[in-house]
Amino acid sequence: MKSYDFLVIGGGSAGFNAARVAGAQGLRTAVVDGARELGGLCILRGCMPSKTLVYIAEVLHLAQKAKIFGLKIPSARADLRAIHARKKKIIAEFADSRVHQLKHGKFDLIRAHARFVDPHTVQLSNGRRVRAKHILIGTGSKVSTPPVPGLRESKFWTSDDVLDLNRLPKSVIVLGGGIVACELAQVLSRLGSRVTLIQRSPNILRDHSEDASVVVQKAFVDEGIELFAGTKIEKISQDKRGTTVTFRHGNKRLTRRAEHLFNALGREPNTAGLGLAAAGVRARENGQIIINRWQQTSVPHIYAAGDCSGPHEIVHVAIQQGELAARHAARIHGLKPIDYSLLLNVVFTDPQLATIGRLERELQEAGIHYLTASYPFNDHGKSILMDANYGYVKVIAEPKRGRILGAEIVGKDAGELIHAFSGPLTMRATVFDLLRAPWYHPTLAEIITYPLEEIADKITKRLKHRRSGMLPPLGP
Ligand SMILES: Cc1cc2nc3c(=O)[nH]c(=O)nc-3n(C[C@H](O)[C@H](O)[C@H](O)COP(=O)(O)OP(=O)(O)OC[C@H]3O[C@@H](n4cnc5c(N)ncnc54)[C@H](O)[C@@H]3O)c2cc1C
Repeated sequence: MKSYDFLVIGGGSAGFNAARVAGAQGLRTAVVDGARELGGLCILRGCMPSKTLVYIAEVLHLAQKAKIFGLKIPSARADLRAIHARKKKIIAEFADSRVHQLKHGKFDLIRAHARFVDPHTVQLSNGRRVRAKHILIGTGSKVSTPPVPGLRESKFWTSDDVLDLNRLPKSVIVLGGGIVACELAQVLSRLGSRVTLIQRSPNILRDHSEDASVVVQKAFVDEGIELFAGTKIEKISQDKRGTTVTFRHGNKRLTRRAEHLFNALGREPNTAGLGLAAAGVRARENGQIIINRWQQTSVPHIYAAGDCSGPHEIVHVAIQQGELAARHAARIHGLKPIDYSLLLNVVFTDPQLATIGRLERELQEAGIHYLTASYPFNDHGKSILMDANYGYVKVIAEPKRGRILGAEIVGKDAGELIHAFSGPLTMRATVFDLLRAPWYHPTLAEIITYPLEEIADKITKRLKHRRSGMLPPLGP
């Protein structure tokens, strides 16, 4: 039986990067991946295909509102076959490059499914067994089908299907209001489908602040997406011509019909077939593997990273976690756990929604004092000339010295703008530090200086008061 120092199950973002680091550290490493197509979710059916479509839909949207800019573009329409071909070409290039990295890394690549036989041994679907001193689980996630009445009996699309469309559906009902639901609902709507989005919680993007989600919600409605939040689905039924969803909204019972149903109600850890019990690895009821701050599971030589363990199912976190686990297994000194107080999140709707660091909801729950200031894009030169008026920039800072704790941006290219805070937050900069930095005019980014100035002003005034003995209270 072949034996390794570090065996990785799953060659996605977490697994590939763990293997890359482990190999570079001199550990005898192998990646086992059972997929027909290698590349992982991000490249094949996640970030990259979705952002290809999001961008195409934005170009189309701008062309369709050309009149606002004094332009004549008489018939800007989507050609789904051409869009599909572009997406396939781009994704094939990314996937080829990842396959090359997997085949030519400082580790073995084994094309098979793996399941645990005992804490050091996995059984492969090709009949062989492999042993390892350390094992990393990076098996990702899969679409979940919650117990919504009629859903399991219905034919529905998942994000995989929507990302692979080569013809435009006339109408689609989107179930869910999370990131994938919102991004793809807007893509479908902008490409020309009639879209109805039905969401259970009172706002879409419920992990974000209400202020932020309300802006995206308004933009969706303004663009013609029919949106119902705060609903309870009572029945889903289908016939040859499509799907009917019956749901309660407020005190009304409503019915909507569409050609297709898109289940975007979420994903769950892909761990069911791994034989975790044989290895003694503990998981939560939903299959999420329990990890400590070094990515170790309940069995210390077995690590987990990425979507299968959470707590944040996004690519740069999966990469950080995989790398950390590999370094820990290689016994590198001076390691630091991942600092989730710097968490960066982006929703690629238009307007985009991006956050970094500690946000108001969390600070309030923890009883931490903070200062906040925000500024709207509809009063900012660059966004006005771009007709990008939705949203705002909000800065959250510690009230004594003005250290930046977090930021929330809703608006055009918020996913790019939020990176203005990445370095400063990591380096524990204050609003005063950021105000010393140069900001070019006219840019979208310079809007950030307004909330920074407001917070700096509040702190300076407070200091003056303190010197004069009249100290106003701390607090939001
Ligand atoms: C539509 C969509 C859009 C997204 N957009 C973004 C975005 O813009 N930004 C962002 O940060 N995140 C985005 N995400 C999330 C992101 O794609 C995931 O968080 C990330 O890809 C997870 O990486 P992973 O390594 O955990 O899992 P994966 O990349 O899924 O890798 C798991 C691998 O394990 C293999 N495997 C599974 N079981 C076994 C087994 N038993 N034996 C052997 N191999 C196995 C699979 O074949 C697969 O290759 C998006 C997700 C979706 C669905």
